[in-house]
Order: sequence, then structure tokens, then C-alpha cells
Amino acid sequence: MNEVIIIKYAELNTKGDNINYFIKILKNNIESSLENINHEITYDKGRMYITSDNISKCIDKLKNIFGIHEINVGYEFSDNSIDNIGNNVLKLLSDKEFKTFKVNTKRADKTYPLESMEVSRKIGGIILKNIKDIHADVHNPELSVEIEIRFKKVLVYTSKYRGLGGYPVGASGKGMLMLSGGIDSPVSGYLAMKRGIRLEAVYFDAPPHTSVDALNKVKSLCKILCNYSGYIKLHVVNLTKIEEEILKNCDRDYLITIMRRYMYRIATSIAYKNNCKCIVNGESIGQVASQTLTSMSAIECVSDLPIIRPCACLDKLDIIEISKRIGTYETSILPYEDCCTIFVPKHPVINPNKNKCIEEEKKYDFDTLVKEAINNEKIIKIELNHEYNSFNDIL
Ligand code: ATP
Ligand code: MG
Repeated sequence: MNEVIIIKYAELNTKGDNINYFIKILKNNIESSLENINHEITYDKGRMYITSDNISKCIDKLKNIFGIHEINVGYEFSDNSIDNIGNNVLKLLSDKEFKTFKVNTKRADKTYPLESMEVSRKIGGIILKNIKDIHADVHNPELSVEIEIRFKKVLVYTSKYRGLGGYPVGASGKGMLMLSGGIDSPVSGYLAMKRGIRLEAVYFDAPPHTSVDALNKVKSLCKILCNYSGYIKLHVVNLTKIEEEILKNCDRDYLITIMRRYMYRIATSIAYKNNCKCIVNGESIGQVASQTLTSMSAIECVSDLPIIRPCACLDKLDIIEISKRIGTYETSILPYEDCCTIFVPKHPVINPNKNKCIEEEKKYDFDTLVKEAINNEKIIKIELNHEYNSFNDIL
């Protein structure tokens, strides 16, 4: 009898008849994440089961996959007699150190002759008889032994790891993440992936005003996000000419607003081309002048896609906390210039007027530059093909 990883699905349980669709996507995501580890996956509507010769490495990978509520390690078998359940539980506990324990039994198969409480009591008795110096404690046990009597199988397990929750990446379609080198946009990307959105990313650079280092930083942020999604297609769009002409031709107070309107237009166009159903970005209400509600409205009206802003209502400190947890923080704070460097010092309006934006944009043939920028985009596929260790390691 080999150990098996038992996965409990996250919110998928609420998905009714669609559950098979979600489970298949989750299975595919797990397959690709475990591609370098020997493993086998089976599943039913309630659980997924993974066997492997490297359980702990599998668990490390599974901890980064959305759509998983809990990861457990134990045994799966079909002989549901109390003796056999007891033997498996003893085997499971043989390498565990504990003084107090509790047995929880769930019985999905209501035709099973014993009730859950009885099973727990009997197995508890077997444990007490076979392992010395321990006692049962139903309130605060060091170890919980879980038993599930399902229709054709019994599961016993102890170790529990919390999964990331959410929906499997891809279950909600694709979105285009506007990824800058900052703290907020990678966090937004992560949160969007958690709702099942597979990300493509667009980064606007403006060489020579922005450096290769700044681009590499964005690539490494993508790479870190790949820990949660396997791969990301990154579109790099050169905004230099557009920025320079905005600077030459438009009202100083409107430089940032107009530049952001062009970013949104380009992101939207690339999103449509790539079958993305929304734009995701790192804007947070009130964070800077271009993120007041009036500014957001004057900027986002150039796009007809839903604009998803997962950080919109989070405090900066909350965003920082998430970025530390997901591993993007250290990279995000590396000090490289952003693409509106040439607009410094910035004097953006806090309450831009949409009509004024339209008037300013008539001052130059920006449409041609936009087409050029889109036609000249560079596409980089970023994959998680080796373990992420450090910034230098992933370039
Ligand atoms: P972040 O918000 O990621 O910390 P930031 O604070 O430098 O970076 P802002 O100026 O706040 O960026 O821009 C708000 C959002 O606009 C970003 O979160 C990002 O989604 C998008 N954005 C800004 N600059 C770029 C860029 N060069 N390329 C792609 N998207 C960008
Ligand atoms: Mg920001």
C-alpha cells in the first residue's frame, strides 16, 4: 500500500454540474506543474488522488496551484473492514510523534454498517491498544486522524496543508495584465489568477528612457507569477515615440492621463487579438493622481473591456504583505526607472476632463503611432521550467 496525496477541491464544490469542467482544468494544471516528477493522477467528483515516488516535492508544487482547498497525505484502499482500516491507520501513524490524538470519521457511503462515531471509537481503541503513552483528546489533539468511508474506497490521512483556494487558472478564461515593475500589478495578477483567469501580460517600455534592467525585472516578475500558472505570454510594447509626441504636443497637466489612455487602448487591442476577456491592472483607488475615481473614469473609457483592479480597495500595506507572501516583493522593489520617467516632474491633473483629453489627442496623429507600436510588439513566452531561486537565477 503506497502513500497517496488526497486533494480536496476549493470552491469548485459549489459549481454543480460544471464541476467536471473545473476538475479537468485543475488536473491539467497539476499535470503540467508536476511534469518533471513521476506521478499518477486519478479523481472523482469529491477528491483528486496523486501517487508519486516523490510525495514531498509534489506537495511543494501543489501548494502553488489555485483550485485546491486542502492537501492531505495518507492511504486509499477498498477493503473497508474495521480491521483493515485499523491496520492502515497504524501504518500511517508509525512514523508520527504525538501524545494526544483524535479520530474524525466521515461516511459518504451511508450504507456502511457502522455510524461515523462508532468507526471513530473503534479505530481510537485500536490506536490506544497499539501505541504506548498516548491518549485521546477530542478538544485539542496534537494529531487528527481523518477517515473517510466513500463508496468504493476508504481514505485515511493525517497531514493537512492548506491549498491556495480559488479557481483553477484558465477556468475563467484569459485576461491581459498590465504589468509594470512595481509592487501592485504582480499582486493584481496573482489575485486575478486566483479567480481562474489565465494571464497574458503587457509591459510598456520606453528605451532609451527605460533600461534593459527594467525589462528584465518585469520578466522575472512574470517568472515568479509562473509559479502559480506554469507559463505567461508577455507582450512588450515600445511606447517611446508615443510618449515623446505626447510630451511635445499635449498640455503638461494631461501628459500622464493621455499616456495612460494610450496604454489602455493598446492593452485592449492586444487583449482582443489574443482572446483575453478583460484587462487586469494594479490600480488602487487614490494611490496617485492617475488613480482618483475621476482619473480612472477619464482613462478607462477608451477601453470597452471589463477593467479588473484586484488592488483597487486594498491598502498599500496589505498589497505589500501579499507581494511578500507570493514572492514578488524583493524583485518589485529593485530600483529601475518606469516608463513615464520622461514626464518627471509630474504635474498630473487630479480631475481630468474627458473632452479635454480628446482635444489634446487631436494634436498629433497618434493613431498611426499606436498601430506601429502594436505591430512591433515583442512576444516572450515565460515558463516555469526550473525552480525559482533568486533574481539572477531566473533571468
Ligand atoms: P505598480 O502599481 O505595479 O506598483 P506603479 O505603482 O509603478 O506599479 P502605477 O503608476 O501605479 O504603477 O500604475 C498603475 C498601474 O498601471 C500598474 O499597476 C500597472 O497595472 C499599470 N502600468 C503602469 N505602468 C505600466 C507599464 N510600464 N507597463 C504596463 N503596465 C503599466
Ligand atoms: Mg501603483
